[in-house]
Amino acid sequence: MTRTQSSPVWHPFTQHGLERGMPEIARAAGAWLETSDGRRIFDAVSSWWVITHGHGHPKIIAAIQRQAAELDQVIFAGFTHEPAETVARRLVAMTPLGLDHVFFSDSGSTSVEVALKMALGFWRNRGEARTRILALENAYHGDTIGTMSAGARGVFNAAYEPLLFDVGRIPFPAAGREQQTLDALEATCRKGDVAALIVEPLILGAGGMLMYSAATLKEMRRISTKHRALLIADEVMTGFGRTGRMFACEHAGIAPDILCLAKGLTGGSLPLAATLATSEIFDAHVSTDRARMFFHSSSYTANPIACAAAAANFEIWKNEPVLERVADLAGLQSRCVAELADDKRFANVRQLGTITAFDLAGATASYLSDAALPLRAACLKRGVLLRPLGSTIYVLPPYCTGTEELSKVYAVISDAVDEVCT
Ligand SMILES: *Cc1c(COP(=O)(O)O)cnc(C)c1O
Repeated sequence: MTRTQSSPVWHPFTQHGLERGMPEIARAAGAWLETSDGRRIFDAVSSWWVITHGHGHPKIIAAIQRQAAELDQVIFAGFTHEPAETVARRLVAMTPLGLDHVFFSDSGSTSVEVALKMALGFWRNRGEARTRILALENAYHGDTIGTMSAGARGVFNAAYEPLLFDVGRIPFPAAGREQQTLDALEATCRKGDVAALIVEPLILGAGGMLMYSAATLKEMRRISTKHRALLIADEVMTGFGRTGRMFACEHAGIAPDILCLAKGLTGGSLPLAATLATSEIFDAHVSTDRARMFFHSSSYTANPIACAAAAANFEIWKNEPVLERVADLAGLQSRCVAELADDKRFANVRQLGTITAFDLAGATASYLSDAALPLRAACLKRGVLLRPLGSTIYVLPPYCTGTEELSKVYAVISDAVDEVCT
């Protein structure tokens, strides 16, 4: 079934003047969606990068049902509950050393807003005039005002530009140009007013699945430490196995001062986010003076049902060979993209863990690239959900994806590109 004009729903990142009907999804299992009229669609983007193990993992569903019957929601200021305590304890144990405090929120964007506010609050409470935020060119950190400010400027935020604050922009560390990035970072940090550098570790997602080396990330950590600028790692997309390790920071052996997590936190089942911080940052907010507390909350902070889903997700990570599955999927992915390396239709074929990306050769890399919409439609027609970023096609599937399913995805991409681009 396809919903058309009569619907009152206003969809995200959707030009309703161009996208007139959308499939109505009734159910999902594993890596597959099913429409209300029974059509099956392979979810090759993990439902916008959130699904890790697959849709409807029985242990997560059971935990949600159990928790919903016990405690659905409670104010989290002045109260706590077991699911949140468990999730916080487990997060501290599984993330890089030194991140000992966990602040809950509801989405990737809010986890980054919280991180930026923690950084500013930290320096204010310390009495140091550091308010400047640095971010990478082409970054994406969310769609709220603060996170748009940290992200790349473009057509998607032009209208809101008057509200965005100024951010120091560090060039993207493309292969061969890493030193320019590090030199620019060092020069900017030397001014002494930098509160924090925010980065997406190893791969810039919405900015075009742009990848850079672990060695560069390690150097960025060294420079930020040297100049006492906090490092915020936005692992909203990369967290929970996507890059082949539990967290992308592990590839570089670094620990940030603040870590943002969201998408895979509940296995993709419910919205929940966490911002982890060091004791130094937490302690700077601890005082008998109420004016020094961390001023942030949302109504559903640490919702018990979402926390129970996250706790069940952690049990799956503990009891099932998830990292092996991730390695298997990465292996399948590398075999699939190896075949694209000599394909004249594609350029910049690249991979990080379970994620692959490649650009349409010759096409201009703009988000509004004419190919993106027809390509998406051509893939959907063939039963595969893909969402090219301008002229960049990427495949980011759930970890339960099998060999045949993945081969089908690449066959569909090949056919769709032929249909749309020739
Ligand atoms: C998706 C994403 C966000 C925003 O998360 P939402 O849950 O959509 O608000 C922030 N940072 C990165 C790196 C992301 O990929």
